[in-house]
Amino acid sequence: MPIQTACLNGQEITYTLTRSRRKSIGLQINQQGLRISAPLHTPLLYIDTVLQQKADWITKKLTQWQEKKSLAPAWTLNATYPLLGEPWRITIIKPTGEIVMTRSFDHELPQPLAIELTPRQIETFVMSWYRQQAITCFQQRIGIYAHKMAVPTPPFRLSQAKTRWGSCNSRGIISLNWRLIQLPLHLIDYVVAHELAHLIEMNHSKAFWEVVEKVYPGYRIARVELKRYE
Ligand SMILES: [Zn+2]
Repeated sequence: MPIQTACLNGQEITYTLTRSRRKSIGLQINQQGLRISAPLHTPLLYIDTVLQQKADWITKKLTQWQEKKSLAPAWTLNATYPLLGEPWRITIIKPTGEIVMTRSFDHELPQPLAIELTPRQIETFVMSWYRQQAITCFQQRIGIYAHKMAVPTPPFRLSQAKTRWGSCNSRGIISLNWRLIQLPLHLIDYVVAHELAHLIEMNHSKAFWEVVEKVYPGYRIARVELKRYE
């Protein structure tokens, strides 16, 4: 993919350009940066005009992604990756060479791994592990707490929200931040209980907290503890 540059609001930015049989210019911004998809014969000058028109939006979005990146874990082979409050590591199973995640114990020194992976590959591997763990765990906890509250088990999805651990929309779909899977189980349970309580009370009234308290006594302590991870 050819890399192009543009000067937006006095800031030089780079973007990748893909051309295809499409009718309009498409813009996409994610952690890899800005991607433009354009029809086959659109002149670069015209693409630049479109970018200038959307300059404010593009520079704002790019800055947001850069900020997010700096909060991300270091995607290295020897790093520990928390799961349910415990440190885990990337390990290789000797005979097969398969890469897995294993629980790391303090007395064990990390063995140097005889593989080469780019930070991007490590991130992809660890993130897919986190997602699987999160889905299995959250599903189970939602089942347990829905049963305690005598509500039907609601559907849920993983979110990547930057500031919220969970939410519950008006259609009764629960969103849980994948990052929760890094925290101890009792904090996951608090967020699950909190979001499920919104199926009964769609607010933070006294009645709402009573619903939470019934299934999660001591929720106040969990709330304070959770703040430490924000
Ligand atoms: Zn709430």
